[in-house]
Amino acid sequence: AKDLKNNPVVEVQAEKLKAHDGKQIGIFGGTFNPVHIGHLLVAEQVLSKLHLDEIWFIPTNIPPLKNAPIVSAQDRANMLELATQDNARFQVKLFELFRGGVSYTVDTLRYLHEIYPENRYYLIMGSDQVNQLFEWKEPTKLAQLATLVGIQRAGYPQKARLPMIWVDVPGIDVSSTLVRQTIAVGGSIRYLVPKTVLNYIKKKGLYYE
Ligand code: ATP
Repeated sequence: AKDLKNNPVVEVQAEKLKAHDGKQIGIFGGTFNPVHIGHLLVAEQVLSKLHLDEIWFIPTNIPPLKNAPIVSAQDRANMLELATQDNARFQVKLFELFRGGVSYTVDTLRYLHEIYPENRYYLIMGSDQVNQLFEWKEPTKLAQLATLVGIQRAGYPQKARLPMIWVDVPGIDVSSTLVRQTIAVGGSIRYLVPKTVLNYIKKKGLYYE
């Protein structure tokens, strides 16, 4: 056993095994204000169709291109946790909330490569986001740090042909905006969000203005 320790062949194999430890991770960033069935369907379809190991849901602290959310980051994170807790492959990661400030995806991906260099990352985004990609911070770098995965979204036809993977997902024309507006006018959001999230929203009286 002592000999094995400094044996170069064994060390090379150990290195390979370590590289093998890496996982294929789908990165799903968003405001999740609140999380809805569109998000969950996209995550599951991408996980399954690209044979990924996990999807990491990463709620934004302050979104660079959207209005600041009216509900707290804690509430958005809690709702994500409730929505994903029955799926062992879905994980909620609060990197951007802990970092604070405006959340840039490229910073998050740099950080992920630093702390988990063994993983491969797939950045999932709806076509509304893909169409805005050139307004993002360092889009070219982004494409180097992750494989970009686009999802067609109703109302946002693909503008530019970008070198990225497109995954077919049964279209669900639900947005967080629709959920918020429905609550504000006293409508039903049953089945637009998971039951656990619905109960949380009701209990805390979120989005009623
Ligand atoms: P809002 O209506 O508040 O702008 P949203 O519904 O677009 O919110 P976000 O949390 O901002 O939700 O979106 C996170 C990611 O999920 C984005 O990449 C977005 O394109 C994608 N996404 C959201 N809803 C859908 C949907 N119904 N189908 C496909 N992708 C979606």
